[in-house]
Amino acid sequence: MAIRQVREMGDDILRKQSKPLTKMTLRTKILIKDMLDTMYEANGVGLAAPQVGILKQVVVVDVGEGPYVLINPEIIEASGEQTGDEGCLSLPGKAGKVTRPNYVKVRCLNEDMEEVEYEGEELLARAFCHEIDHLKGILYADLVVGGLHDVEYEDEEE
Ligand code: ZN
Repeated sequence: MAIRQVREMGDDILRKQSKPLTKMTLRTKILIKDMLDTMYEANGVGLAAPQVGILKQVVVVDVGEGPYVLINPEIIEASGEQTGDEGCLSLPGKAGKVTRPNYVKVRCLNEDMEEVEYEGEELLARAFCHEIDHLKGILYADLVVGGLHDVEYEDEEE
């Protein structure tokens, strides 16, 4: 298990465009594994490669029903609307209201570089949109209505 350092807002890398992945390599497999470890360790529901300093179009998402790995993802369908609090591992301790589609369909490659489509509603749709935005250098803070507010975390007892 390897935890990578999560870049925080203010770091230029979060504002850059990520490049499509052209082939799966051992290096990228390790990156994906580390991204999952890093996301779970931080109790996040998603993480994008630029957040760990890698400008590749790789995203991991898990809203509690098992991990999704999305490579070169694009949203090909979106409908409905949801407004709710969103947070980001790159803006620790903050949250803010963002409006997103309530349903999205995403086309991407899986870890075997096969084309797949994933559908998501509610939190999963929100997570897909949020993470795909990271690949374009967009942070949820850019989309927040009403400003960011502080979130209190409960202390975890081990
Ligand atoms: Zn984020």
